[in-house]
Amino acid sequence: MPSTDSRRFAGYANPDIAAVEPYTPGLGPEDVTRRFGEVPAPIVKLASGENPLGASPKGVEGVQEGTRELALYPDWTAARLRRRVADHAGVAPEQVVCGAGETEIIGGIVRAFAEPGGEIAMARPTFPLYHQYAHAEGRTVRFADGGDKLDVGPEPMLATVSERTRVAFVTSPHNPTGRCWALDDVARLCERVPDALVVLDEAYVHFSDRPSGFTILADHPNLIVLRTFSKAYGLAGLRVGYGVASPDVIGLLMRVKPTWNLGPLQVLGAAAALDDDAFLTRTTSLVRDMRRRVEDAVGRQPKLRLVDGSEANFILVRVADPGLDSRQVVDHFLRQGLVVKDGAVSYLGLGDRHLRIDAPAPEVLPRVEAAIRSL
Ligand code: PMP
Repeated sequence: MPSTDSRRFAGYANPDIAAVEPYTPGLGPEDVTRRFGEVPAPIVKLASGENPLGASPKGVEGVQEGTRELALYPDWTAARLRRRVADHAGVAPEQVVCGAGETEIIGGIVRAFAEPGGEIAMARPTFPLYHQYAHAEGRTVRFADGGDKLDVGPEPMLATVSERTRVAFVTSPHNPTGRCWALDDVARLCERVPDALVVLDEAYVHFSDRPSGFTILADHPNLIVLRTFSKAYGLAGLRVGYGVASPDVIGLLMRVKPTWNLGPLQVLGAAAALDDDAFLTRTTSLVRDMRRRVEDAVGRQPKLRLVDGSEANFILVRVADPGLDSRQVVDHFLRQGLVVKDGAVSYLGLGDRHLRIDAPAPEVLPRVEAAIRSL
């Protein structure tokens, strides 16, 4: 990507936006061959949490059905998907907002719930779009630092929030550790900051056995639960996510929602995917099995150490050998045609000793095990 010299626009660009570090996406196959020449094929992405089984077949059928409506402007509220999600979550349609991925809703939350300069709390390390969007909008970020133990749970967060907090982001399972919050702790946070919106991002919840934040929504009008179709439903390319909260919270988000952000492919594809229980079950049992196998392989390699407790579709690994850093380990994987995530590039505050590896497809597992063994 050509780099932009944001200083060129200093006179007339929004300085908050000009100062934002652009999001660093995972490498694609062309990037890998450009850097390393020929590597074993196929090049497999294990860095973006994509579904090893591909897309939900019912979701794909729904998308095909949606093509019949391409000539028409969609209903701006995505009513059919809203109703289907409401049914799924056991709430009213007025309690659901749909977005072009969770990320679009995250942007709306930053704008709707924190005024310029207002405080937004989040863990460090965390999913980087929380702080990138907050900074782009000129909001103040307060990090709850995980420290060496990568404790991204309730204690550092409760110590970080105050009456000035407008939004607090909680991710469970967390990205990048895969660790979960107990719902009691989420409830405790909601009570601690009654005038702030607590965001419970459940992008990876299907891979854990935990109950959903849906079950505590009725008691906490300042809580929103976010979900995505990008992971367990295998529809990352479709771009659909949703949020469930009290009607007041959703009413505010509907005011900042881009008007026709979801077309019929997204609405019908996602609604159909929600019915695909068979695919969801196949995905989650496979991912848990593959996660455990990769964890075992890491356990047998003394140069690496598992950051334990992941309930997501990836694991976080620490480079234990003092002679190596994460970049060298990631390059080792890339030379085997396996794209994994370098913590130093992808997460603020994680340092240069961690990498994130997705649960692979079964046919890719032997290549992952071999790459770990041969480090
Ligand atoms: N939340 C978290 C915690 C994530 O890790 C990701 C993707 N990496 C997202 C949200 C993005 O979801 P979507 O594809 O729905 O925008």
